[in-house]
Amino acid sequence: MDAREQRGLVIAATCKIDKAQRGAYYVPSQTRAGAKYRVEPDQQRCDCKDYEAMGLTCKHLYAVRFVIEREKNADGTTTVTETLTVTETVEKKVRKTYKQCWPKYNAAQSSEKDRLQELLFDLCRGGCRGTRTQGEGTEAAHAP
Ligand SMILES: [Zn+2]
Repeated sequence: MDAREQRGLVIAATCKIDKAQRGAYYVPSQTRAGAKYRVEPDQQRCDCKDYEAMGLTCKHLYAVRFVIEREKNADGTTTVTETLTVTETVEKKVRKTYKQCWPKYNAAQSSEKDRLQELLFDLCRGGCRGTRTQGEGTEAAHAP
């Protein structure tokens, strides 16, 4: 890799190289802020003074070559950037609702604890006594 090629690599790594029309690229000047050189890699052309004076591959041409290489993937395929518009149809699931009988609901909510305790009391009186050790139960809480 010669000095020009190395400078091209630096440009490719640090500068924003814009694509122009018909396969050309704009490479920003390293010496003049805001200036850009038009590089045509297919024709091996650049409009910088280096290229005009010597007709050699200038650093801008190298930079563009590196950019083109970089866009190729490791497996040799080329990455093509496309903008796709995807229209997604989402089927909304409507949650099924049920009517609530509020007077019954309220009555159940307010008598739930008492009713449960009654049922538990009946249940325990029927057969859990034998399996429990003394003091483990909560029978005292059920006393009227
Ligand atoms: Zn050049």
